[in-house]
Amino acid sequence: MKVLLLGAGGRVGTALAPRLRAAGHAVTEAGRGDAPDPTGHDAAVDFTRPDAVRANVERCLAVGVPAIVGTTGLTDDDLAALDGLARGHGVPCLVVPNFALGAALMMRFAAEAARHLPRAEIVELHHEGKLDAPSGTAKATAAAMGGDVVIHSVRLPGLVAHQEVLLGGDGQTLTIRHDTVSRDAFAPGVLLALDRLDRLPPGVTRGLDAVLLEAG
Ligand code: NAP
Repeated sequence: MKVLLLGAGGRVGTALAPRLRAAGHAVTEAGRGDAPDPTGHDAAVDFTRPDAVRANVERCLAVGVPAIVGTTGLTDDDLAALDGLARGHGVPCLVVPNFALGAALMMRFAAEAARHLPRAEIVELHHEGKLDAPSGTAKATAAAMGGDVVIHSVRLPGLVAHQEVLLGGDGQTLTIRHDTVSRDAFAPGVLLALDRLDRLPPGVTRGLDAVLLEAG
C-alpha cells in the first residue's frame, strides 16, 4: 500500500517507518510544516500531536483517503467531526489509543474482570514527554469497564508506556498489567490495521478490537 505517515520524525514514527517498509508498504514521510498532499495514498497513519491530529486527518478524509489514528487526545467533538467527514466520503477512520496487541487484550480482560469484582482503579505510567493525561488507553479501559473507575497518571523519565488495572473485592485483589518496553510494540497492530482497513465500515471505528477480533 501507499502509506502517508504523519509524524514520521517522532518517537513512534521513526520506529514505525522501517517496519512499514519491511512489510512491503511504500511510505511517504511527513512532519510538522510539510503539508503533504494525501491524494493518491491508500491510507494515512497519524502519530503526531493532540493539537495537530484533527486537521491532519480531516485533510486525508476530505480527499477520500482512509486514516489510521494513533495520536491520542482527540475530544468527543473531534471524533464526531471526523466520523461525519469519513462517512460523507465513504471511508474508514480507525482510532486506536494503543496499538500494542497486549494492551488490547489487557482492556478486554479488564472489562471481563469488572463484571465480577466491585471496585477498580487504573494506574497509567508514561515517559515525561507524553502531552495528554490521563492516557487514551486508560480512558478507553475505564469506559470498557463501565466508566466508574479512578485513573492515576504518572509521568517520569525512564518509563515508556505502562498500565495497571487493580480490582478489589472481599479479601482479594486482581492486578492486570501491561508494559510497553519499546516502541516496536506498536508496529504489529498498525500493520494489522492496514491489512484489515478495507473491511471496516465508513466512519470512525474505535479500538484495535475491530481488527484484532477479526484476525482471530
Ligand atoms: P513525538 O515524539 O512528539 O512525535 C510527534 C511527531 O509529530 C513529531 O516529529 C512532530 O514534529 C510531528 N508533528 C507535529 N505536528 C505535526 C503535523 N501537523 N503534521 C505532521 N507531523 C507533525 O510523539 P510520539 O511519542 O511519537 O507520539 C505521537 C502521538 O502518538 C502522541 O499523541 C502519543 O500519545 C501517541 N501514541 C500512541 C500510541 C498508540 O499505540 N496509539 C503509542 C504511542 C504514542 P515536531 O517535533 O516538529 O513537533
